Amino acid sequence: MARYRGSVCRLCRRETQKLFLKGDRCYSDKCAVERRAFPPGQHGQRRRGKVSDYGLQLREKQKVKRMYGLAEKQFKLTYKRAARMRGVTGHNLLMLLELRLDNVAYRLGFANSRTQARHWVRHGHVTINGRRVNIPSARVKAGDVVAVKEKSQKIPQLKEAMEAVARRTVPTWLELEPDQFQGTVKALPNREELTIPMQEQLIVELYSR
Ligand code: SF4
Repeated sequence: MARYRGSVCRLCRRETQKLFLKGDRCYSDKCAVERRAFPPGQHGQRRRGKVSDYGLQLREKQKVKRMYGLAEKQFKLTYKRAARMRGVTGHNLLMLLELRLDNVAYRLGFANSRTQARHWVRHGHVTINGRRVNIPSARVKAGDVVAVKEKSQKIPQLKEAMEAVARRTVPTWLELEPDQFQGTVKALPNREELTIPMQEQLIVELYSR
């Protein structure tokens, strides 16, 4: 699977929005969006005309896909799954993305970014209900306990991330026990609890073309 290996700050600048892909730096004044709030490249500062409906839909999809660090194929599969579920497809999509193990680990503060969270999961540092799970896309359920393995709790970067979680609030659908390095999925999140700046309807319109 092709992986983007370029500068992640360029991705934020392309969307002219902070996607919080880099951890600590995103909260500092070194953030590239703070310093250069225009798209990257030679023509980035050129005045842009009216964006078409398709353009808006595409940008929204790219933004969300990049925020969660998914490849196009993975994102589309998630969308198809959301479309097969009961309820509003856009909300389902958002919920499926939020329930990914790497995202939950990030939300609980085990990592400074989703990329780091994915790394912890892949390397077997994260457990669900006491069982080691090394698949970042594994989906958690209501009642699941997501934790850091006892041995891994000594990793300095992981400890630092836990200390820094105060900067971001833990979502209401998760309950964090910082001393235990663990958190519980209290319930499946509803749309109001998912405070992500996302217009999911645009993504649904894009894929419904
Ligand atoms: Fe995006 Fe973070 Fe880079 Fe800012 S520092 S541009 S939020 S990845």
